[in-house]
Amino acid sequence: MRLKLFSSGISYKQSLNLMARMIRYFAPYKFRIILAMFCMLIVAGATGGSAYLVKSAMDDIFIRKDLWALSIIPLIYVGLDFVKGVARFMQNYMMQYSGLCVLETIRDQLYDRIIRLPVRFYEDNQVGMLMSRIINDVTMIRNSMPSLVMMVRETFTLLGLMVVVFYQNAELAFWAIFVLPIGLFPFIYIGKKLRKLGRRSQGKIADISVFLQEIFSGIRVVKAFATEKEETARFAEENERLVKISLKQTIYNELSSPVMEFVGAVGIGFVLWYGGKQVIDGNATPGTFFSFVAALAMMYDPVKKITGANNEVQRALAGAERVFEILDSEEIFEQSEGSVVFNEPFESLVFENVTFSYNDSHIALDSVNLTVRAGERIAIVGPSGAGKSTFVNLIPRFYDVQSGRILLNGRDLQEYTLASLRRSVALVSQDTFLFNITVRDNIAYGDKESSDDSVFDAAKKAFAHEFILDLPEGYATVIGERGVKISGGQKQRLAIARAIHKNSPLLILDEATSALDSEAERIVQLALENLMLNKTSIVIAHRLSTILNADRILVMDKGKIVAEGRHEELLQTSALYSKLYKLQFLANETE
Ligand code: ATP
Repeated sequence: MRLKLFSSGISYKQSLNLMARMIRYFAPYKFRIILAMFCMLIVAGATGGSAYLVKSAMDDIFIRKDLWALSIIPLIYVGLDFVKGVARFMQNYMMQYSGLCVLETIRDQLYDRIIRLPVRFYEDNQVGMLMSRIINDVTMIRNSMPSLVMMVRETFTLLGLMVVVFYQNAELAFWAIFVLPIGLFPFIYIGKKLRKLGRRSQGKIADISVFLQEIFSGIRVVKAFATEKEETARFAEENERLVKISLKQTIYNELSSPVMEFVGAVGIGFVLWYGGKQVIDGNATPGTFFSFVAALAMMYDPVKKITGANNEVQRALAGAERVFEILDSEEIFEQSEGSVVFNEPFESLVFENVTFSYNDSHIALDSVNLTVRAGERIAIVGPSGAGKSTFVNLIPRFYDVQSGRILLNGRDLQEYTLASLRRSVALVSQDTFLFNITVRDNIAYGDKESSDDSVFDAAKKAFAHEFILDLPEGYATVIGERGVKISGGQKQRLAIARAIHKNSPLLILDEATSALDSEAERIVQLALENLMLNKTSIVIAHRLSTILNADRILVMDKGKIVAEGRHEELLQTSALYSKLYKLQFLANETE
């Protein structure tokens, strides 16, 4: 499944659903949220109290000149402010706390979901884009709850003020509030725009992550072709697009307040005119009118806060939509697996009429039949694109066959648990990948209980022990990103040590085509010999010694096994093999 970069837009019903989902994430923190709300009340009360105190200060200290009031009122003022400060801190901390915890939960869930998805998913979606979902999109959800709470709080304040306004002058209030719905139109319009821009900006950030990921991992190509300038220009272009979207976001964000203010001004202008007329006509007193106007003016603050919170919620909705696309989507399902745990000695691997294609237009494997018996050493040769890698990738179920079956010890691969199946196969590929962790942990990858001795033993068999001891911190040396701190041959030996340590009965090797110097090559070869000792192995062959030593060679072409046998036989019976032998293997050897 390919994830969408942009969404086509969400309806209000979907928004409500998303909101409900987000609220559910905050449910475990309800006590903290209630406490935060309680603190909000304290803040509001203390603010009101301080304001009220100004009146007492005026009347009691300055007008009545009361000494007791002079000593107590400043103290009460300081006390109230202290309480307000503590309550505000608690409120913010509780809200941020729950926001961060939700962030953590969603990130963990998202990561857990993504890492379980089949290899195919990673081919359809760029790594940078997935990274952006986990890092950026989730962050937006974090602010949704505090904003929602603020919206609720301010709505209540607004309602309270409305009661005052209606109480004082119902007729005028009716007209004043009547203007409000007109004010809501720009509000809705801006909200919609912001939501759309939010999605676009997240899409752009994802694009940039994809771009960066690609450039940094392909940095050697960039350097080799000296294209830094062009790549910088390409980045600048992407960056500029993001800025343009962000600028638009800023415009709409910043527009919302003045627009609301203007709507308010129109309302107040109208009220002044209408109320003034009432006073002049003798239908209302100036006192009621001014307290009415004061209450109406006080409505501005909550309305402004609601607008701001709404923008935040809109952004959160855009993020949530993209996150839940992965978490909820029924389209992406994890690979099905059986319940049989494979932990017996390897007996046989049988391909029965296996057909596979990556896409409908082209068949990569076409009715392949093969039986691999315990202890066999099988070499696969064939021109580029013949299907050799596809063939071996089906064994650990990186892909699933479309028709036919693959049987391990007589059982369909699908009957085994994925973990036990994958434990039974050790894979050493051309593209040696080492993690940015210690040498020891790289060798013992996937085995938390491994002993030092087993790691040393594997390293010795892979002829890696000596050079590891020469590294700055020996086995505790942390390998640089993609293993840049060690040589190509050493990297391969570490990968071989990892496979030896895994001790799986079935080995799949994709021999490196990139030539090492003859000494390094010889050591890698010896390491491979140790790895294959007493194991069943399937090797995508690039070295002459591999095909000469193989029990059986499979010749693949256009997704089919076109010939099989030993080297001498094949030289007689297969023209393709003879050609490959001369062009590829002998040529490699001479190099
Ligand atoms: P090489 O020796 O060049 O590595 P190969 O014999 O291993 O080639 P495969 O990689 O198995 O060949 O490819 C078989 C066919 O499947 C090719 O036509 C290739 O283009 C196609 N193919 C391989 N991998 C994918 C993929 N991930 N998505 C789509 N098509 C693919």
